[in-house]
Amino acid sequence: MFDEKTAYSGLDFFKLDNFLTDKQRDLRNRVQEYVQTTVLPNINPYWENAEFPRDIAMGLRDLGIIGGMIRGYGSAGLDPMEMGLVKYELAKGDGSINTFFGVHSGLAMGSIGLLGSDEQRERWLPAMSHLEKIGAFALTEPTQGSDAVNVQTTARLENGQWVLNGAKRWIGNASIAGILIIWARDEDGKFGGFVIEDPQNVEGVEIEVIEGKIGKRAVLNADIRLNNVRIPEENRLAKPRSFKDVGKVLVLGRYGVAWEAAGCAAGAFEMALKYAKEREQFGKPLAARQLIQQKLVEMATEVTAMQLICFQMAQLVAANQLTDAIASMAKYNNARKARYVTQLARETLGGNGILIENHIARLMTDAEIIYTYEGTNEINMLLVGRELTGINAIV
Ligand SMILES: Cc1cc2nc3c(=O)[nH]c(=O)nc-3n(C[C@H](O)[C@H](O)[C@H](O)COP(=O)(O)OP(=O)(O)OC[C@H]3O[C@@H](n4cnc5c(N)ncnc54)[C@H](O)[C@@H]3O)c2cc1C
Repeated sequence: MFDEKTAYSGLDFFKLDNFLTDKQRDLRNRVQEYVQTTVLPNINPYWENAEFPRDIAMGLRDLGIIGGMIRGYGSAGLDPMEMGLVKYELAKGDGSINTFFGVHSGLAMGSIGLLGSDEQRERWLPAMSHLEKIGAFALTEPTQGSDAVNVQTTARLENGQWVLNGAKRWIGNASIAGILIIWARDEDGKFGGFVIEDPQNVEGVEIEVIEGKIGKRAVLNADIRLNNVRIPEENRLAKPRSFKDVGKVLVLGRYGVAWEAAGCAAGAFEMALKYAKEREQFGKPLAARQLIQQKLVEMATEVTAMQLICFQMAQLVAANQLTDAIASMAKYNNARKARYVTQLARETLGGNGILIENHIARLMTDAEIIYTYEGTNEINMLLVGRELTGINAIV
């Protein structure tokens, strides 16, 4: 039953909280509290030093969210709304923690959950559900970014083992992964996911952390080189035989990123609103100025529209009606709005908006990554264009 006294403390202009179940609300509050008490007070030094905050990340285990929407195998078994709310609340605090969670639970566990055999799920998911093994998802290559359908990495079967050759780029969690999924083409040109277990100890695998990132600095991305890497034949994921199968994982990834973008923008807005009410100039709070109110209203309106898109998408996922184009439109809209809102929030704080200690600058750079990963905004826009016109303008 909805209780006014315990209503959501963040922006909820259209009273969406009223439509959540108690279970969804409880989970959302639990994640919100973790972000307030553990993520926000501790994340900045990790971000500045480009260091992975292992303790903060491992604390996610206690929230009952690992594995996202996968049921069984010790995984959280969240419903689509719960998954979205988790992404939203984590992103309000920090994009690096959000990406660590999304790559592990969504992309890596999601690939095994959707495309693995029963035996493969039994073999890998339980340890991943307890964060004993961290997952990574390696699709992008140095020469194949948006054009990932044409991956150059190869897998050939030799004496009961797959032999992998190629290179991957930007792979989140790779340097700490226990389960690394490499997307490659076999000798028949068929697409497949090949699991390298404990890749740091496998001959022929080189993993090098990419330095100098301006956003999501506390989650590590890596270049990977694969030189005659041998893995057991049974480590090829059972189902994917075409890029379309991976698309099932990517469409849910875009669903999550649309929520992430909404959360990132909401976090920046809420901090800017608080600051504008407290900070005085010319004898009045900033919030008393029309020009500042204009920014606040702009931000709140954009965040509300983003929330509405996400709430409706959650219904569509639950009804098995989410399409590629719907997820792309949501990601496209929310990512570009997150960029806009975080910049308005940043400027509302004046000079203090530049300082990492006020968090908004970090969220602003998170928005840059959101804009580019899980399909750049241009590619997602063109996927919607293809749906509207029936003409593919990407290739
Ligand atoms: C921080 C971070 C984390 C990431 N994590 C992962 C991960 O865990 N696993 C993984 O596999 N990948 C990951 N990626 C990779 C990400 O998905 C790619 O960066 C993205 O797909 C774009 O590829 P690219 O960077 O090579 O850009 P490019 O494809 O080279 O694109 C450059 C520009 O050209 C535009 N462009 C490209 N093609 C077209 C076209 N046909 N029409 C119009 N414009 C076009 C793009 O939109 C972009 O603006 C990550 C990236 C980042 C930055």
